[in-house]
Amino acid sequence: MATSPVAIGTMQMATIPKPGADFQIVEREIPKPGSREVRIQVKACGICHSDVLTKDGAWPGIQYPRVPGHEVAGIVDELGAGVSEWKPGQRVGVGWHGGHDGTCLSCRRGDFRNCENLKIPGISYDGGYQQYMVAPAEALVAVPDTLSDVEAAPLLCAGITTFNSLRHSGALPGDLVAVQGIGGLGHLGIQFASKFGYRVAAVGRGSETGDLAKKLGANIYIDSTASNAAKALQKLGGARVILATAPSSKAMSELIDGLGPNGKLLVVGADFSPIEETPLQLITGSRTIQGWATGSPADEEDTLRFAELSGVRPMIETYPLEKAAEAYTRMLSGKAQFRVVLTM
Ligand SMILES: [Zn+2]
Ligand SMILES: [Zn+2]
Repeated sequence: MATSPVAIGTMQMATIPKPGADFQIVEREIPKPGSREVRIQVKACGICHSDVLTKDGAWPGIQYPRVPGHEVAGIVDELGAGVSEWKPGQRVGVGWHGGHDGTCLSCRRGDFRNCENLKIPGISYDGGYQQYMVAPAEALVAVPDTLSDVEAAPLLCAGITTFNSLRHSGALPGDLVAVQGIGGLGHLGIQFASKFGYRVAAVGRGSETGDLAKKLGANIYIDSTASNAAKALQKLGGARVILATAPSSKAMSELIDGLGPNGKLLVVGADFSPIEETPLQLITGSRTIQGWATGSPADEEDTLRFAELSGVRPMIETYPLEKAAEAYTRMLSGKAQFRVVLTM
């Protein structure tokens, strides 16, 4: 793979000038990577619902203007001082885990995901809605050749979130696992759950997504607008895990009674309102509610390799970088099938 000869010059970026403002397409100088940093020529960047945090200023401490984007796939373009583990021309990605300090107590325990100084692309520094991006070397992941840039990008947040949460959920092959929500996260969750050997029940709204859910690997489809989904899950024996992907705390609360003995509601979709349950709902059957946030760069590589092995792929709609505002609106509408990806 050839490296870009363009080392100095300008590039386009889609930036948010201040919280709540519209995207601006601006021209900027291509940044130089600092010590232990890598400059990436971005090829594709997925639009995640969490980009709302940058767009609307919902994450504390963001400095504006800021370029969102934490589902990045591209090519190593230039290495900063002290980087020997990556090579110019190598295909790489960056996900939600945008860097760690390596020195805090969590890092010293090897728990990089919970680093006290975790960096997030598009929040802590400019992310992937631009032609070139600089990221800390430890945040990069290698992208297998069989995955295209637009396929790899969404796997680095939506993909890893479902893959990594499910593989640590305690569910075993043959267990009933429900996936609530058939969207950006859910359509990948169904595929991973199926490839893990679970008995997969997809829980969606309306009858029209049933066929698609089954094509993605669901064994059972439950239309929560036509029946009580929790009761339907109980009829199937109760779910060992419910992977809650649609950002609706109300929908999640309504599903808790669908958990079987030792069942777990695994929350990955982020709503700002509380999930409601009574202590008795948890005590009966020793149920738990657990949140899950993505994973380390090594987990991201595991996700990509598993996708390569198993054939799990995101369904995407692509937009050019100049149409970032339109693409973002499409993501917010909830009508995209299923992940919106910017191409550079
Ligand atoms: Zn994300
Ligand atoms: Zn740390």
